[in-house]
Amino acid sequence: MAKTEILGLSFEEIESVIVGLGLPRYRANQIYHWLYKRQTHSFFGMGNIPKELRETLNAQLSISLPKMIKARISKDGTRKFLLELPEKKRIEVVAIPQHRHKDRRYTICLSSQVGCPLRCAFCATGQSGFERDLTAGEIVGQLVVAEREIRKREKIAHSEKVLSNVVFMGMGEPLLNLDAVLKAIEIINDERGIGIGQRHITISTAGIIPGIEMLAASKLQVTLAISLHAATDEQRSSLIPVNRRFSLEPLMEAVNDYIRKTGRRVTFEYVLIKGINDSAADAVRLAKMVNSLLANLNLIPYNPTDVCEFQRPDQETINSFYALLKNKGVNVTFREEMGADIEAACGQLKGRLARYKQENDIIRPK
Ligand code: SF4
Repeated sequence: MAKTEILGLSFEEIESVIVGLGLPRYRANQIYHWLYKRQTHSFFGMGNIPKELRETLNAQLSISLPKMIKARISKDGTRKFLLELPEKKRIEVVAIPQHRHKDRRYTICLSSQVGCPLRCAFCATGQSGFERDLTAGEIVGQLVVAEREIRKREKIAHSEKVLSNVVFMGMGEPLLNLDAVLKAIEIINDERGIGIGQRHITISTAGIIPGIEMLAASKLQVTLAISLHAATDEQRSSLIPVNRRFSLEPLMEAVNDYIRKTGRRVTFEYVLIKGINDSAADAVRLAKMVNSLLANLNLIPYNPTDVCEFQRPDQETINSFYALLKNKGVNVTFREEMGADIEAACGQLKGRLARYKQENDIIRPK
């Protein structure tokens, strides 16, 4: 008989599996604690469970984590992990240090799919096509493996918290795999385990309207980030083809509706690309679009990659674009380059990391 995989299960689901095995409920508490508070992912390492019972659990249940293939660190402390799933498919996870935090804390950038079907013009993941959705267990598994690796390399005790924020900005469009993403969020949010608050979790989307509506209906207090990148449909469709299906006007209506239902401030991401979306007229249109909403705007000067011909605007253009938005009263901020830059950009992970790797990787043997 196939073993029951417990990594994508909520606490209550693990509890009912345990009860189904004829065991007392408190065993579920112990297992959950070992999994997520002590980073112990083998039943044989769960010290307060009797030896014979560990054998039984191991025979009935499994804890399948993605395999760590490569771990790298950049000059700014950002860590990149290449992970492999059972059928050899690979995904990337990034952990970005929160320098403003007095303890060592990271924001972790998770993938939701292997590849992505949306084919955005500036995105390496999109160019390489879509393979499959990740399961909730695989999404949580990324976080678990990355956290374990950070703790090991930085010698951080189990009692100390390592992860402060989660962003779904890695490979894939999270709103096209929403059931698994919501399930993963339930597990990540659970105080009995990982315990990252909903307000510290961000879902970034290219603008999948049905997904935004479902998220609004879920009443979760997560942050919604919209990869906007253009203020006209023509421009946006050339950068983000799914805009032909979910164009700007209905997208903005869905965002407005999301804000009304959740009371949450939305974040817009705008990658500034030379000669494409960086004119004064673009800034004026953009200001008009976001000013009517409870929203922040993140401006991200494009980092050239091998994936496409796009260029970063010169500093003068970037400054005047920013100043124009400020003058119009937009709540605008710049995103930092490098690690934080990866955090900001939906799905540019692979392309950005390719560049990041050439220029900044230091492999620290430990
Ligand atoms: S930018 Fe995001 S949505 Fe667009 S192709 Fe890349 S991963 Fe997919």
